[in-house]
Amino acid sequence: KRRTLIAGNWKMNGGLAVNAGLLAELLSSSINSSSEVLVCVPSVYLAQCESTLSNTAIAYGAQDVSAHSSGAYTGEVSSTMLADFSCKYVIVGHSERRAYHHESNELVAQKALQALRSNICPIVCVGETLEQREAGKTNEIVIAQLRAVMDLLDDGALARIVVAYEPVWAIGTGKTATPEMAQDVHAVLRSTLAERSEFAAEKVRILYGGSMKPENAKELLAMPDIDGGLIGGASLKAVDFLSIVAAA
Ligand code: 13P
Repeated sequence: KRRTLIAGNWKMNGGLAVNAGLLAELLSSSINSSSEVLVCVPSVYLAQCESTLSNTAIAYGAQDVSAHSSGAYTGEVSSTMLADFSCKYVIVGHSERRAYHHESNELVAQKALQALRSNICPIVCVGETLEQREAGKTNEIVIAQLRAVMDLLDDGALARIVVAYEPVWAIGTGKTATPEMAQDVHAVLRSTLAERSEFAAEKVRILYGGSMKPENAKELLAMPDIDGGLIGGASLKAVDFLSIVAAA
């Protein structure tokens, strides 16, 4: 059985003092869950996470990585730099990066590959816009987003990724996909993986993201192909994040 992963995506929020408070609250709650708990923070705070979270029940990761290994790419952060801070996970292809930074499926795939080369697990985000859903294109969109990554990875590498289904219309809007709507897409994603490798399809955790909160987490996480959550807003409040962890 796949181990549930509850991941917070802080996005561009926080600061040294705020983070210290939030992490202390998370740590003081003595998480006794069988789930894996993760916070994905702005890269500049990875050092803070390394000193605060090493040897604790909370893992940390980054929110983006360069597709290149080094060189003249001003402002970018490489996977080896993330690895310097013992970062275990990195989000790639978040819809905010696809939308505001014009990241293509191919670029996102390169980023996933680069992360794996440094032994960092990429959390590959996929998801459709409201317009695409209403046009009946949801499956086509998420399959293309996933296939671009599958094309660059061998079966062994593919089995090591995490996928996050985040319908764009559900992010930060308070609108959540119903558990059935999410499950349908998760099942499509898993069968897409299975076309390449049954092993990878069994192994890969598929998270749901988009207005996940304490009130809806339990029913979403109860679905057979929902293996965890990628949580934005509710990950910034310790009580909310912890109650999602408790629901898993
Ligand atoms: P919200 O939980 O704030 O809707 O954000 C979801 C998300 O984008 C996580 O990556």
